[in-house]
Amino acid sequence: MGLSSLLEFTEHGIYVPRGDFYIDPNKKVKHAVITHAHSDHAISGHQNYLCTHLSKPILKLRLGSKIKIQSLDYAESLNINGVKVSFHPAGHIPGSAQVRLEYKGNIVVISGDYKLENDGLADPFEIIKCHEYVTESTFALPVYQWQKQDIIYKEIYDWWQYNQSQKKASIINSYPLGKSQRLIHAMHQYSSNISCHSSIEATNQSYRSIDVPIPTLIDIMDIPKRDAHKYLILTPTIISQAYWMQNFPGFEIAEASGWMATKNRRHKSSSNRQFTLSDHADWNALNTTINATGAEKVFVTHGFCFEFSEYLKEKGIQAYNLDSILKSNKSIAD
Ligand SMILES: [Zn+2]
Ligand SMILES: [Zn+2]
Repeated sequence: MGLSSLLEFTEHGIYVPRGDFYIDPNKKVKHAVITHAHSDHAISGHQNYLCTHLSKPILKLRLGSKIKIQSLDYAESLNINGVKVSFHPAGHIPGSAQVRLEYKGNIVVISGDYKLENDGLADPFEIIKCHEYVTESTFALPVYQWQKQDIIYKEIYDWWQYNQSQKKASIINSYPLGKSQRLIHAMHQYSSNISCHSSIEATNQSYRSIDVPIPTLIDIMDIPKRDAHKYLILTPTIISQAYWMQNFPGFEIAEASGWMATKNRRHKSSSNRQFTLSDHADWNALNTTINATGAEKVFVTHGFCFEFSEYLKEKGIQAYNLDSILKSNKSIAD
């Protein structure tokens, strides 16, 4: 038997030979099971996609409406050549999932990206007991420890209010899929004077089409100039020269990301204000989750793979740096 009872680690990514499908493959394959629509997990060109119902319109929006795609509800299972496959909420963004595989009593879970805090929009993360757990590790260092989201939301609101008093609009740079919808949903509790860039609105519309409760927003171009300072605007990148910005004589720009947790990254940011808000598990959440799964083997991918797998080994867990195995470019089947 190889390193894993069910998985093979190939140059295309995580492969399940028994079912002949890949999970979040990074090269074109015949059958791809997709945890969520972020570009480091879902690329175009696969022949067949399998994802959650909630991810389906987002994948079509990002990869093209013609892709061949089958979807499942959370916890609904599909038997693929004897392997029982099901999706379970990962709490990362609406529609995101962990993939649970079961074959002859062996249970393997691939986390995708996840966070434990319930943001009120994504279905909350579910702990799944398993023998093997493939975990992300984007923020797997002790320096990454998040404050409760309500504290951050209040900070953002205070900043927004202050800018308004200075006759300046508040512009937040945030990731267009996931982070932006989370912020729109959260900040709408304070005020409905919120607008966003068209690329974010396209994602909002996809989500609204499947009843994810994203409030309807005013179009940037329809904001009356005299009221511009009252608005919170979300943009995917920091563009101070964009055409729509002519409507905003004065503004402040902030950035909202987990990376803002360190001084180094805050100093490098081109924004005036930084908020530490992440859609990933922090150091404590990663450790809590791994313990709670009861997994005997943990494969660490997407992030601080070396550091975190070494740490887990010190704690007595059979851990592997998956990215180095995947990079070694050959399937492990000893
Ligand atoms: Zn992601
Ligand atoms: Zn990711």
